[in-house]
Amino acid sequence: MQSTMMQVPLNVAHLLERGRLFFGSHEIVSRLPDKSLARTNFAAIHDRARRLAKALVAAGVKPGDAVGTFMWNSSWHLEAYFGIPVAGAVLHTINLRLSPQDIAYIVEDAGDRIILVDDVLLPLFEKVLPFTKVERIIVVPTSGAPVPDGYESYEDFIAEDASDYQYPQLDENAPCGMCYTSGTVGRPKGVVHSHRAVVLHALSVSLPDCLNLSCHDSVFVVTPMFHVNAWGVPFAAAMVGCSLQFPGQHMGAEDLLDIMESEKVTLALGVPTIWMSIRQTLDRQPDRWKLGHGTRMMVGGAAVNPALVGGLEAHGLSIKHGWGMTELTPVGTLSWLKPEHTSLPAEQQYEIRARQGLPIPLMELRIMGDDGVQPWDGQSVGELQVRGPIVTGGYHNQPTTEDKLTADGWFRTGDVASIDAEGYMRISDRTKDLIKSGGEWISSVDLENAIMGHPAVAEAAVIAVQHPRWDERPLAVVVKREGQKVTADDLRAFIAPRFAKWQLPDDFIFVDSLPHTSTGKFLKTALRQQFKDYVSSAP
Ligand code: AMP
Repeated sequence: MQSTMMQVPLNVAHLLERGRLFFGSHEIVSRLPDKSLARTNFAAIHDRARRLAKALVAAGVKPGDAVGTFMWNSSWHLEAYFGIPVAGAVLHTINLRLSPQDIAYIVEDAGDRIILVDDVLLPLFEKVLPFTKVERIIVVPTSGAPVPDGYESYEDFIAEDASDYQYPQLDENAPCGMCYTSGTVGRPKGVVHSHRAVVLHALSVSLPDCLNLSCHDSVFVVTPMFHVNAWGVPFAAAMVGCSLQFPGQHMGAEDLLDIMESEKVTLALGVPTIWMSIRQTLDRQPDRWKLGHGTRMMVGGAAVNPALVGGLEAHGLSIKHGWGMTELTPVGTLSWLKPEHTSLPAEQQYEIRARQGLPIPLMELRIMGDDGVQPWDGQSVGELQVRGPIVTGGYHNQPTTEDKLTADGWFRTGDVASIDAEGYMRISDRTKDLIKSGGEWISSVDLENAIMGHPAVAEAAVIAVQHPRWDERPLAVVVKREGQKVTADDLRAFIAPRFAKWQLPDDFIFVDSLPHTSTGKFLKTALRQQFKDYVSSAP
């Protein structure tokens, strides 16, 4: 056989080296607990990540062992993103917003024995500790306060020089990191990302039509680093050399806008609820911040609606909508306009940009209906299934079952979607969130998007409530924007032109806030529980 290319493994050590070699002086900025800003750069991250790797190996961490992080977004967390994998270990970012029981379950299921914990999060982690077999807690002193007695300091742990540190052989298929699904149903499940998947994903999301990431960018990582690797962007950042901004624990809209202005942010990553509060704040104080840097706002994790796209556009902020899952690495699709769309009226462009979008390179999509694979006609809906080198082949510690991976090798997302003739995917629901009324399906996402298009509405979630005749009927639970007045009849009339009469919610209930999951999705299980005895007013 003729020889082809060199067998050089794809791994994150290459990304770390690249960050130092070519972009060493590019800045990494973290907001500290006292709200001051700490500045470092890729050269320092490289040095400290290698010290961490050396210390972990000296502490007996073996290839494939999971090492946990219980941390806010910061440059220290970025060190762990690289230092743990280049020790041959597995970066396990723990979602600190879960219940102590779920956190303990995750720590044990992953097998974490060493955990890096922000000092400000230590009281929270101490609630979990008795239920785990964690042996060493390394405390990261982000607040600058002395490390409490009985704990090891991260700075002492990484004190030894690591200029002689040799990376272990890092096979590209070896585990690099693991994340748990935020699981609104059942226990969280572990997904292990390989070095190869992380590198391929970094290349793919960085492309011009995707996130268009370059060394000229200043990227604001608002998405928690414990939520699927902050969408893989920290890895891509070292590769392209963009500067990074981390908000720490300060997630209020004004705090975020201050950083967007002072650090001249060009790309910010976050879930829709965060960008909704940014929009409301800017609507109230349009001239307070100078944001004229062509900022792109990547939004994912839950559906965005055209009204938010247009609302932020009015402030010079451009939404980039994406869909992904922990089981991917994690971005699957992103929405961008093609040249043929640029002459369309603004409203139509917002509608295209609010779709979940086109698959990023290396991803394949199909829609599976009851009668097989569905045509790409924008109408036929079914379960979205995906395939590719950045899609998981199974869950940690669990047998692979056909309800997750089909016999012909596609991953079943549990999302209900359609794909149009141009290849744009649109999610209409989660399988479990669809509403079945009189034998016909109603999309809760379509109703939510339409209601959230009303200027007086901040947020709206639609759930099914029981009905003796129709089985289920849609109920809309709505949060008004501050100081706004709107009635159920106003909302029904507003959305009526876009739906069949039987699809319209019979009732609209106004509440002060909606429950969200730890990663920003509507927590529909909680809403369904809250309204389980609600009787629909439908005849
Ligand atoms: P997670 O693994 O926590 O990121 O959750 C993945 C799930 O979030 C997906 O299967 C979707 O149900 C939902 N999701 C993520 N991004 C979007 C989006 N842009 N639009 C609608 N749903 C989304």
